Amino acid sequence: AEEMIRKSEKLSAISQLAAGIAHEIRNPLTSLKGFTQILQSSATEKEEYYQIMLSELKRIETIISELLMLAKPQEIQLQKKSVEELLQHVITLLGSKAIMANVEIVTDFESDLPMIRCEENQLKQVFINLVKNAIEAMPDGGKITIKLNRVENTNEILVTFIDEGQGIPEQLLSKLGEPFYTTKEKGTGLGLMVSHRIIKNHQGRMEFKSKQGLGTIVHIFLPAFSNEN
Ligand code: ADP
Ligand code: MG
Repeated sequence: AEEMIRKSEKLSAISQLAAGIAHEIRNPLTSLKGFTQILQSSATEKEEYYQIMLSELKRIETIISELLMLAKPQEIQLQKKSVEELLQHVITLLGSKAIMANVEIVTDFESDLPMIRCEENQLKQVFINLVKNAIEAMPDGGKITIKLNRVENTNEILVTFIDEGQGIPEQLLSKLGEPFYTTKEKGTGLGLMVSHRIIKNHQGRMEFKSKQGLGTIVHIFLPAFSNEN
């Protein structure tokens, strides 16, 4: 009986997710359909319609690719990597986005850190999500500090992202990572759900601390490489 209950809980979680996905995809699709119909019948203001169509298509693309990260956790291929290198990659990747947003990214990495065992692309995806969130939390620009430290007693690596953004109200902290929870007009509310899942798959954990108006701190703990993990 317990097994049955667990299965039905799983099913209802899945169907809730499916309902959410369907809803999220239907809105941009309805918009695309409408504008395509208008384009069919008139030749005016085409420019603007094409722009809306493209941005809605991009939105569907983002939602789908974020969901795909969730759909294949079993294909995970763990390799020995340096977190420092992964972070440097991500910083380079997001460099122009940061400059355009008037955001400075500062690093403070402890030296001689142990390696970790990870799926490189998935972990990079997490770091990208967090840096993007930090940039988006500072519409007038600011500083992001990324720290790397060793946690002595537990043999873990601690990655910390600090921003000077608008912060998250305390009563909303528990909502982070819920599918489709977003406060952004163009957000998907999937980034943190996917990130939590990836970190969990790496036997790690992610914690948020935030003060409204002051900024947000994200801690990610990851087990250091050993022959056992
Ligand atoms: P999205 O970025 O598409 O909204 P996420 O899952 O990445 O989805 O984030 C969910 C929500 O969590 C955001 O909409 C925002 O309200 C909040 N959030 C996440 N990171 C931060 C941050 N660094 N500062 C302030 N709010 C944040
Ligand atoms: Mg995000």
